[in-house]
Amino acid sequence: MKTIGLIGGMSWESTAHYYRVLNEETARKRGGLHSAPLLLLSVDFAPIETLQRSGKWEEAGTLLATHAKTLEAGGAKVLGLATNTMHIVAERMAEGLAIPFVHIADPTANALLEKGISRAGLLGTRFTMEMDFYKDKLKSRGLDVVVPDREIEDINRIIYDELCRGVVREESRRFFIQAISRLAQRGAQAVILGCTEIAMLVYEVSSPLPVFDTTDLHAKALVSAALAD
Ligand code: GLU
Repeated sequence: MKTIGLIGGMSWESTAHYYRVLNEETARKRGGLHSAPLLLLSVDFAPIETLQRSGKWEEAGTLLATHAKTLEAGGAKVLGLATNTMHIVAERMAEGLAIPFVHIADPTANALLEKGISRAGLLGTRFTMEMDFYKDKLKSRGLDVVVPDREIEDINRIIYDELCRGVVREESRRFFIQAISRLAQRGAQAVILGCTEIAMLVYEVSSPLPVFDTTDLHAKALVSAALAD
């Protein structure tokens, strides 16, 4: 199995979940005491969040590109970026790398298409819901994407002020469930948890729509890539 390089810490709450899934999936596929060979580069999220808020994507991309090169030089053979939002700068980050990069939206699109879903709701940060980078990637795979029309600000606030700080509130869970119900009314057949922290709040059993958790799908895709010839 090849060594996985993961840029995490955005936030560390969800990176902890990646760590668990990477290891569980490796053990499931390989058996015994096998676990994931992994290089984790976990950043300080505060300065990254400042760059996001001030729209300094170029600077953020340069920073992540440096981290990607560090992981490659350290021996990583497959690379993942453990946040949907920072895929805004995925191209810049992966520039000049020789190792394959597993884009988080690819396994997500694969899973939706495998289940015959053609129209999916997307929840994430305001960047992921409002900007085109993520929706376009899904649309390029033939998927129709619906984002909330009223709840974007509150969803964004819950992600940064609560979930990224490890705070899970029942009131916020109810809010997300309502937002998912409204996506269903607008024709979504499933919901993409397009932010790596949302699974802390919404699970399959509590959701009015089938749930596609990007953290889980991405971590499993990284294991598959690391096991491929
Ligand atoms: N982890 C989140 C995501 O998947 C949000 C935090 C960030 O802005 O990176 O988008």
